[in-house]
Amino acid sequence: MRIFEITRIRLTAWYVFIIMAISTMFSFVIYQGITHNIEASFMNAETRMERGPGQISLQMLAESRGMSTEEAKAMLHDLLVEELENSKKNVFILLLVTNGVIFSLSSIVSYYLAGRTLMPIQEMIDEQKRFIADASHELKTPLTSLKTSIEVSIQSGKLPKDIEKLFQYNLEDVNALSNLIDRLLGLASLETKKVVFSNLDLKEVIKTAVKRVRYLSKEKAIKFKISTKNYQLVGDEASLTELFVILFDNAIKYSSKGGKIDVTVKCTRTSVIIKVADNGIGISEEHLPNIFDRFYRIDSSRTLTNLHGYGLGLSLAKKIVENHRGSIKVSSELSKGTTFIIKLPLKA
Ligand code: ADP
Repeated sequence: MRIFEITRIRLTAWYVFIIMAISTMFSFVIYQGITHNIEASFMNAETRMERGPGQISLQMLAESRGMSTEEAKAMLHDLLVEELENSKKNVFILLLVTNGVIFSLSSIVSYYLAGRTLMPIQEMIDEQKRFIADASHELKTPLTSLKTSIEVSIQSGKLPKDIEKLFQYNLEDVNALSNLIDRLLGLASLETKKVVFSNLDLKEVIKTAVKRVRYLSKEKAIKFKISTKNYQLVGDEASLTELFVILFDNAIKYSSKGGKIDVTVKCTRTSVIIKVADNGIGISEEHLPNIFDRFYRIDSSRTLTNLHGYGLGLSLAKKIVENHRGSIKVSSELSKGTTFIIKLPLKA
């Protein structure tokens, strides 16, 4: 469910809660007032029956029924008590029905009003997302040409050694920026476009993702071990491939040379459980709850060690999993490694 819909429902619930709290309070006061009045009228009626003009009627009733005045009085008292209880019950039912109607009407009106209240915010967020997507798109072309020019200059071999080194650094920065733009575009497109679900083979998706990070894993001599059968599931191929690229990319980035990445897939009746485990530097417990937040990166001493990133990968990964109505969890131990566990429904 989109965040707008969730917030709208929450706001509706608050509106309804406030209206119902006021209505229940008033109903209680009204009920107390009415029943108090009915009871007072009942007492009056009884007094008039015993002492006022009703006395004659009481005697006539006793004679017609062949009973004593006391018995007739008790009979009338029972009748009046029964009427009193009936009246109280009727008032209670009436208030209950009225509250039911108020609840239904206020739910509809509150839902409509919550939508109207949130509309400007939603438009602002959409505008912001469009801006990020457009800006990222505009930045992509000059960055690609910058990257090509730097690569061509380095490969020409005509550069002095110190300039070549400088160009290498530039190339790394350009690659990092390009990566950031890809992630921003990924996030923007996930939030604006509708994902396309189709039948796909999970093993193929994993293989494609492994191919996409192959050049990085080769650089660090990191080996992949993939244990999976050919599971079929319904999902968006492009974004699921991106999900695995992010996880593999991180596993490589945060592992030492010669490390290994284990990918295991198990299937239950309704979902697949994928584990991506590395034996890298690990994540300390205090950071685990935050790593899926946007722009969250762990301490600068680690980020300074030449590891480019902007803390967007895992937030994008989480978004992709949520779009597939799945879940992503992490367990990790410092210096031992990290395992991401993804659960995806077989039918999205
Ligand atoms: P980044 O672009 O910085 O990698 P991510 O959102 O992908 O951003 O990850 C957030 C943080 O979580 C990273 O800065 C890193 O410290 C930590 N992290 C993610 N994956 C791993 C992993 N496999 N091993 C160790 N740390 C990891």
